[in-house]
Amino acid sequence: MEYREFQGGRISRLGMGTMRLPRIDGKDGAPIDYARAEEVVDCAYDNGITYFDTAWPYHEGTSEEFVGKALVARHPRDSFAIATKFNIHAHPDYRFVFETQLERLQTDHLDFYLVHAVMDNTIDEYLSCGCIDYLTEQRAAGRIRHLGFSSHAAPANLRRFLAAGDWEFVQIQLNYLDWEYSTAHEEHDIITEAGLPIIVMEPVRGGRLASLTPNANALLQDAHPDWSIASWAMRWVRSLPQVQTVLSGMTTVEQVLDNVATFSAKEMLSADDLAVLERARDSFHAEISVPCTGCRYCTEGCPAGIDIPAVLELYNKIKMGSQTSLAKIGQLEGGHPGDCIGCGLCVGSCPQGIDTPAIMAELSAMAG
Ligand code: SF4
Ligand code: SF4
Repeated sequence: MEYREFQGGRISRLGMGTMRLPRIDGKDGAPIDYARAEEVVDCAYDNGITYFDTAWPYHEGTSEEFVGKALVARHPRDSFAIATKFNIHAHPDYRFVFETQLERLQTDHLDFYLVHAVMDNTIDEYLSCGCIDYLTEQRAAGRIRHLGFSSHAAPANLRRFLAAGDWEFVQIQLNYLDWEYSTAHEEHDIITEAGLPIIVMEPVRGGRLASLTPNANALLQDAHPDWSIASWAMRWVRSLPQVQTVLSGMTTVEQVLDNVATFSAKEMLSADDLAVLERARDSFHAEISVPCTGCRYCTEGCPAGIDIPAVLELYNKIKMGSQTSLAKIGQLEGGHPGDCIGCGLCVGSCPQGIDTPAIMAELSAMAG
C-alpha cells in the first residue's frame, strides 16, 4: 500500500468509502449486511488502508454506527483515520450532529471532518448557518484534527468557499472523464493554487468507468489484459501529485483487493498508457454523448419551445453517469422533452445532424 505524509502523520493513498457497503440480500434500501460489510472493512484494514470515510446520511443514517462497531471498537484508535461530515440538508443542527457522530463512531475525536457537499444551491446556507465557526472551534478544542469540505460546486463557488474558512484539505469528484469533459481540471488547479491536498471522490464515476463501451474497453484490454477497466481510473487519479487519498466506495472483498493491488503496484501509468487511456476516454465520450455545439440554430423553430441545447447538455451528463441531471431537465424553463411532437424541424437546422426527436423520446421515457 502506498502512503503519503499528511501534517506529520501518514495515511494510505487508498481510502475506503462506506456509502456502498453490502446490504442484506443485495437489495436497494435494505439494511447493511453487517457480517459481509465487516469482512470488507477487515479486508481493507488488514491490507493497509488507514482512511475510512463515512457521513451522516450514508446508508439511511446507519453507516457511522456501523463504522463505530466494525472499525473503531475493534482496532487501536491511532491505527486509522475516520472522516465524517456535516450535511445541512440531512440535519441542520450542526451541534447535535457533531455530538451524535462522536457517539455513533465511539470516539472522542474525528480525524478528518468535512462540510458535506458544498454545491451551487447549498453554499449560501453553509456560509450563513454558523457551522464553519463552530467546527473551527471544535478543531481548536482537539475534537476535530483536520477540517475541510467536499465540493460539487462550480469553480467560482469553490473559490468562495475556500476563502471562507481555514481549511486543510478539499474533497472533489475527480476522474479522467471529468478532467476533460467537466470542470474537474479547473477545480484541481484552484485547490492546488490554494496549497491544499485533494481527497478524491468518484474516481470511477460511481462505477461508470468500471466498464466503458466495447470499443473503449478493447483499447484498454489490449494494452493491459491483466488490468481491470476500473483500475485504469484508479491508476490515473493516483498519478496526480496533489492527490492525497483516493476514496473508493467498496462493496466486495474482490473490489478491495483489486484496488489494493493498484495502490501497491510499483509502476505508474507510462506515457504510452496515458495515450491509450486518452484514446479510450475520447472514444467512450464520443459514443455516449451527442456532439451539440450550442449554436442554437435549432431553437427558434421548435414549436414546443424546448431549450434544445440545454437539454442535450444535460443528456450528455446523464450518459456520463450524473444522478442529478435528469431532475434538472424537469426544472428547465420552456418545453420539456415530453412536449416534443417529433416534427423534425430541429434536425433539419442542425449542422451536426443530431437526431434530437429520438433523444427527447428517450429522455421522456427515462423521466417516466
Ligand atoms: S422535433 Fe421536438 S425538439 Fe425538435 S423542433 Fe420538433 S418539437 Fe422541437
Ligand atoms: S442546431 Fe444542433 S448543434 Fe446547434 S444547438 Fe441545436 S442541436 Fe446543438
